[in-house]
Amino acid sequence: MRINISDLRTDPGAQENFEFRLEKLPEADNITFIEPVFVKGKLINMGNILELTALVTSKLVTTCYRCLDEVKYSLEFSFTEEYSLKDETDEKADYEDTKHIVCEGDWLDVSQAVQENILLNLPMRVLCQPDCPGICPHCGKNLKDGPCQCDDREIDPRLSILAKLKQGE
Ligand SMILES: [Zn+2]
Ligand SMILES: [Zn+2]
Repeated sequence: MRINISDLRTDPGAQENFEFRLEKLPEADNITFIEPVFVKGKLINMGNILELTALVTSKLVTTCYRCLDEVKYSLEFSFTEEYSLKDETDEKADYEDTKHIVCEGDWLDVSQAVQENILLNLPMRVLCQPDCPGICPHCGKNLKDGPCQCDDREIDPRLSILAKLKQGE
């Protein structure tokens, strides 16, 4: 998404609101977007810097970290990004430790920043329910559907010695 900043860049304090639908969805393992990604935000001329603040919302499907069932997830986060209005790299190379992208011309493309921030905010370990029991490591049964046959034999190794002792009694 390209935003025209021709007025904004020459007017300190000015603000430009924007709202768009991200055209190219970021690709990530185990993530399927089921709704468009909406981006709503503003650009503010802070003097030498254009400050971008945006709220990103969408819905996606991923799999439960424990049982691999499908889970719907509402993605919602906000982020800020700064763009230099002046190329300060020559004079003040050491001045800023954060690397700013310099805006040149009258258009600023914010898609890259949105894409990067989506990747940073994707859920990592989603559970289908807070107490998802997961899958039985022996038979592969989803224990959410009830206990499996191996349950009785599956004994904590620390307890198995006790069990053996009891059997010997
Ligand atoms: Zn689960
Ligand atoms: Zn089992």
